[in-house]
Amino acid sequence: MVPAYFGGAIDTFRPTGYLQFELYNERCTFEPCIARCIRISGVEMKRVLVNGAGGFIGSHLVRRLRNEGYWVRGVDLKHPEFSRSSAHEFIIGDLRDPNVAAAAVEGVEDVYQLAADMGGAGYIFTGEHDACVMHNSAAINLNTVEAGRKADVKRFFYSSSACIYPERNQMDPENPNCAEESAYPAAPDSEYGWEKLFSERLYLAYARNYGLEVHIGRFHNIFGPEGTWRGGREKAPAAICRKVVEAPAHGEIEVWGDGLQTRSFLYIDECLEGVRRLMESNFQGPVNIGSEEMVTINQLAEIAMRIAGKSLQIRHIPGPLGVRGRNSDNRLIAEKLGWAPSAPLEQGMRGTFAWINAQVTSCVSNPALA
Ligand code: NAD
Repeated sequence: MVPAYFGGAIDTFRPTGYLQFELYNERCTFEPCIARCIRISGVEMKRVLVNGAGGFIGSHLVRRLRNEGYWVRGVDLKHPEFSRSSAHEFIIGDLRDPNVAAAAVEGVEDVYQLAADMGGAGYIFTGEHDACVMHNSAAINLNTVEAGRKADVKRFFYSSSACIYPERNQMDPENPNCAEESAYPAAPDSEYGWEKLFSERLYLAYARNYGLEVHIGRFHNIFGPEGTWRGGREKAPAAICRKVVEAPAHGEIEVWGDGLQTRSFLYIDECLEGVRRLMESNFQGPVNIGSEEMVTINQLAEIAMRIAGKSLQIRHIPGPLGVRGRNSDNRLIAEKLGWAPSAPLEQGMRGTFAWINAQVTSCVSNPALA
């Protein structure tokens, strides 16, 4: 049975039975070869796992890893929403169940742990989902790292977040401090951030005590095509693109707060580049994976309007805001990896806008999708 996406409910968790294997490589012949590899039609491939493979970043990461020549197993509660997974094998399963976590890591060399109970500001900053966010994501991480240790997984990537940084350093929208070492003394402004910090420490403790190779990236607002664009879990770039697409010419769009809160946004391709470079490096992190191009939310809206060729009014309304200012600090990633994200925000917004425009158009022409 395919479980319904639990959407923030703990009590829908059942300890066993959520396990469904699907092989996507119908035409190939599989032969076992050396441990943690598989030979497909004569080609030897290293086996890797992506947890959260049905989500936005996970589904893109699966595609990238497959293109790089890995054999990829994906695990998630659900399939990717907007395209067929590129995974060789996809497990529909609930990683809060230790049995699912154990099945997921079997025979793989690397684990990319991206599964989490998360969403945009409308989901994680209202306080309504705090218990679920902490319980569900902590359970996923506890199960994954322990199962991975028992199965002798070689390397782990853990997706942390800019939300771990202390609120006190992000009050000034012009000068937020998100240098990696500023994380302590800890004071994240959301329970989502506290869980991420706990899980960073969990992976680091396993590295220290059991010798696991762990790499931790702190993502800063990743966006791009095939991300959630409606329903309450969408992030600011997607929400703004959707509002601009849907607004009539010379109409208006709503923005939470005064729109002067600042953020930076990283396009999905550069996020994946950072993840892969970090994983192949001998640097453990935690390290920021984000853009240093900081904008206000009003400026983000103006970029979307410019792309659309629309001139709209911005109406500011009350809503969940998060910290006043946040920007990636890329000094450490540049020093340790010799690389940092550099693509302009507007470039990524163009690709995202075009994709959301197509989604809205297909909903209009086919009301069953709306
Ligand atoms: P997403 O919500 O699209 O993907 C997360 C996936 O995890 C979802 O598909 C969900 O179904 C799955 N999942 C949740 N609970 C599960 C469970 N119990 N068992 C199996 N699967 C489960 O989010 P995303 O934007 O792709 O983010 C990926 C990771 O990166 C998350 O850990 C997130 O916290 C982190 N992150 C993302 C951003 C961002 O801007 N997108 C920023 C900081 C950190």
